[in-house]
Amino acid sequence: MSEDLKCRCLNCLKRFPIQSNVKEATCPHCNIKYRISWPWPDQPKIRGLAK
Ligand SMILES: [Zn+2]
Repeated sequence: MSEDLKCRCLNCLKRFPIQSNVKEATCPHCNIKYRISWPWPDQPKIRGLAK
């Protein structure tokens, strides 16, 4: 069972899906790439912009 993991984009404030355990994710709305951390296995958190 895969959860529907989502994170809120810091730029456009829309939520977008994130695949489990990825280190980086790109907002599909504004194409900004973020670094993702996982304080909990089912809770992605945006750490900042990816280089
Ligand atoms: Zn965005």
